[in-house]
Amino acid sequence: MYKIGVRIADLIILDEIKRVDMPQISSADFNNLILIMNEIGVSFQFVSLDIDRIIPIQEDANKQKVENISNEIQKGKKLNPIIISSDFYIIDGHHRYLAHINLKKEKIDCFQIGYPKLSAFYLYSKISKKINKSVNEEKTIEQLYNQTPKKIKNRSTDVLAKLNTITKQGRFLYTTTTISNGNSHTCYIRPMTKKGSLNLNPKKTDYVIVWCDCNHFLFNLETSLHKTNASRIVNSNGKNPIIMNPKMKKFLCKHLLSAYDDYINKIERGKI
Ligand SMILES: [Zn+2]
Repeated sequence: MYKIGVRIADLIILDEIKRVDMPQISSADFNNLILIMNEIGVSFQFVSLDIDRIIPIQEDANKQKVENISNEIQKGKKLNPIIISSDFYIIDGHHRYLAHINLKKEKIDCFQIGYPKLSAFYLYSKISKKINKSVNEEKTIEQLYNQTPKKIKNRSTDVLAKLNTITKQGRFLYTTTTISNGNSHTCYIRPMTKKGSLNLNPKKTDYVIVWCDCNHFLFNLETSLHKTNASRIVNSNGKNPIIMNPKMKKFLCKHLLSAYDDYINKIERGKI
């Protein structure tokens, strides 16, 4: 949980802030931002605002970057909205803002956090640290495999994985149906890049997002894996399953174990 509010030590002079000190969340992580905001109950809204109302707080900008973004906008590329506070200060997105000024746009799409400048800045910094850190935490498919208890590994021998799809353009790169005692389950292993997008050339050492529709995964593993960004909350309510997995351990269910073998095999033979 995040505490919302500003401590004296965090009272930085925003008007003099340097670009390197600004919190940033990559565009690929924008959905994570929304997810976390929902999780901690912060209000926000998507609004298109008159550009005159927006107040920049970053003192320096990279001219080339502004040029590049201007070109992208003119080519019709859809950009994520800029992040602003309830009192219209830019928290993230100064280059996009300057590109809009550059192109003499009258409106700009904004993601407005329901807190004024300092609180919004503090909150956004906290979230960006969490998101940027989570990318580096343990969650490669091998690490998840190695963390899986032996008793589950031994139980997985009755499970058969059947490859369903490898869609490079679609949402998942690798999905399987696994069959165990006549019950079938759908699961996926999704290799990701460090920046949070789908990795089209996966290796064993990539970090992954995994998911299975079995009860074991939903009740024991989904939330703990989600905490390090190794799974998306899909069906559960996002509350921690304290009774089921109080230490929030991260590992694979027996279906994902079986999918793991097939997945590694395909990677090694260059089939993905
Ligand atoms: Zn499962």
